[in-house]
Amino acid sequence: MGGSAKTAKTGKSSAKPKSTQSGQEKRIGILTSGGDAQGMNAAVRSAVRSAIVLGAKPFAIREGWMGAVQGGSCIHELSWGDVSNTISKGGTIIGTARCPEFRDWEGRLKACENLVKNGIDRLVSIGGDGSLRGTEELRQDWPKLLAQLVEEKRLSPEEAKAHSSLRIVGLVGSIDNDMAGTDMTIGTDSALNRILAALDQLSSTAASHQRTFVVEVMGRNCGYLALMSAVAGGSDYVLFPENPPAPGWEEDMCTVLSEGRKHGRRDSIVVVAEGAKDRDGQPITAHYVAEAIEQRTGESARVTILGHIQRGGTPSVYDRWMPTLLGYAAVQDVIEAQPGDPAKVMGVRYNRIARLDLTQTVAATSNVHELIKSGEYDQAIASRGTSFTDMVEIFRVLSTPPSLLKPLLRKAKKVAVMHVGGLAPGMNMAARAAVRFGLQRGLEVLGIEGSWQGLIDGKVHKLRWKDVEGWDFRGGAELGTKREVPTVEQFYAIGRSIENHHIDALVLIGGYNAYLSAQAISEELKHYPALQIPMVIVPASIDNNLPGAEISIGTDTALNNAVWSMDLMKESAAASKRCFITETMGRHCGYLALMSGIAAGAERVYLEEENISLETLGKHATEMREAFAKGRRLALVVRNELAGGHYDLKFMANVFKQESLGHFDVRIDSVGYLQQGGAPSPFDRLLAVRLMWETMRHIDVALDSGQCAIEYIGEENGQMSYHDISQMEKQVNPEKRRPINQWWMGLRPLIEVMASSNPPIKDFPLPVIDMSGPRS
Ligand code: ADP
Repeated sequence: MGGSAKTAKTGKSSAKPKSTQSGQEKRIGILTSGGDAQGMNAAVRSAVRSAIVLGAKPFAIREGWMGAVQGGSCIHELSWGDVSNTISKGGTIIGTARCPEFRDWEGRLKACENLVKNGIDRLVSIGGDGSLRGTEELRQDWPKLLAQLVEEKRLSPEEAKAHSSLRIVGLVGSIDNDMAGTDMTIGTDSALNRILAALDQLSSTAASHQRTFVVEVMGRNCGYLALMSAVAGGSDYVLFPENPPAPGWEEDMCTVLSEGRKHGRRDSIVVVAEGAKDRDGQPITAHYVAEAIEQRTGESARVTILGHIQRGGTPSVYDRWMPTLLGYAAVQDVIEAQPGDPAKVMGVRYNRIARLDLTQTVAATSNVHELIKSGEYDQAIASRGTSFTDMVEIFRVLSTPPSLLKPLLRKAKKVAVMHVGGLAPGMNMAARAAVRFGLQRGLEVLGIEGSWQGLIDGKVHKLRWKDVEGWDFRGGAELGTKREVPTVEQFYAIGRSIENHHIDALVLIGGYNAYLSAQAISEELKHYPALQIPMVIVPASIDNNLPGAEISIGTDTALNNAVWSMDLMKESAAASKRCFITETMGRHCGYLALMSGIAAGAERVYLEEENISLETLGKHATEMREAFAKGRRLALVVRNELAGGHYDLKFMANVFKQESLGHFDVRIDSVGYLQQGGAPSPFDRLLAVRLMWETMRHIDVALDSGQCAIEYIGEENGQMSYHDISQMEKQVNPEKRRPINQWWMGLRPLIEVMASSNPPIKDFPLPVIDMSGPRS
């Protein structure tokens, strides 16, 4: 352990080790409680390792509150190695349970006694709102519980005094994403991945037989999973608790389904949240929906209840790196917490960690349930946040067949869509969304096949509602994509084609070369009046190297593909003492390498952004040898494809081999093109839809007002923002083809914190957005 650390909250330096500062060892109890969720293991692993790195002792409290109540072997110290190879596992390795006893005073009294006996007065509690409410009750009762335990001579006054207050940080583990104040909860993204895999499979079988499926997904009080999976899965109808349908909804649903068929849908899918109700508060079950369809259309509908598979299996990449961050932030906070500090929850705001007040968060969550119960549905939806509210409308527009969709105002304007750059999963979803959102705005949408050359060659055709059916889950790019940036000689032909096809606006969905194309066009605009039309570039690249966009379409799928293959590599290596060195795509941008390294539990990550000397490589190889000599069984090293310059994959492997001195063997593999393939992840589909929703709105406004700027759109700090193409030169490093500021580089130290029990271990101040109000 080394160096000094700046605290995230104060920004001041604090000397290490922290545990000896106060003269008292800091013991942190870690528990997972309530329903399990994928990603809980990543949070536990991170909390354990962060505690060790930050100078505290991590303790498992097994089986949730049950372990605290029972004590004995249920509470024990965890070592670094106890959480090895757990990041890819579903469920929770320290167990979870529902513990009715803990709801009573006697139960909490026993829990307090057992915690104090183990010297624990700091907790990282991972669970749903019930678990966090219980955690807060224990904290509030703590002084009285201590007094009673002293009175009953179950604790000595010294013991009680040494642990006079309980300090708590909660993490929300819940696949439902039902906690107010946080954008995502641990497990939700994995559950969405499970649901989407099932919906994609059902869609293909349903399409073969022109069948209807009714699919029930989890979500007792929260429609997040149902709504997002319906949008991402291209479903026809959705029912969820915050939005009970008006009387007569059965007719409405059947009209949507039958009109959808008339307009080219071969499959019909209705998604129902398990907690869906009608306006009288009566549950709407999947079976009821199927019966309603059969009665009204005469077509039999098959019911699929996804059930617990939504909770199971390996966590998605997001449910690994985000809980890793959350675990670190929780430990950082609980170590610094002062006696009497209100309990906190670490949540997520725009991909950053946000500190929330636990009591307020739990109360706000209960308030949504109350709003639903009292029939205040609009407010219930609004309290889920603007992106949820937007999604309700987005779903309506995407799913409503044209005969039922009233366009805002028919306009004689044409918007053309094309891809430029490397393939990014989710491009199809973006094009599909452009067509449907465009139609709703009364615009005609044209598809350009084969990028700029396709435009020159006149491969431009009208895209109708039905033409983009099924594009949601298709990998690849139906319109084709090419990397070529047009040359000045081609501008004339491009202008001619734009005129010939009466294109009024252009949407470029693509990567860096789409931006370069737009830049080149903008410089020649005055010579080519035909090119003076509004253009918007929508970021789509697995490399995540685009200006003005924190995340681009395709990146999440590529990450999941890469980590899936790394998991397999690790498993194959587990039998022998082996170090795998693998390479990700990304060109000059290290996002894929770093994030896949964090998510796969890599020991080392090499990025092109950093200088890698032969000396450093040798040092790392020696450290690796020492770790294997002490019992390590496998190691994973991830490098970005251009990291290290001439020190390529083979060279690095040779250095490690040479220095292994027989303690381990080395294998190399490249994740390769599988990163670009396959169906887009739910995240990429939803990002594509959100970006396109905003893009088409923007283009509509531009067409009405006669503006013809060339801009790029992206999400930054949770806001959709636009930049004029002239801003690009200020935002990127042109040689490296990547943004100058890459937000995720701030996560780089996590690899060192999580990766190795050998030196060098470093802690780092993880920035946290404080949304918890003033500290007491
Ligand atoms: P979740 O945490 O997933 O919402 P539950 O609501 O079932 O799951 O809560 C899990 C456990 O948390 C309960 O079995 C109980 O031990 C504890 N708990 C929940 N609510 C309370 C409460 N109000 N007071 C004390 N403990 C509670």
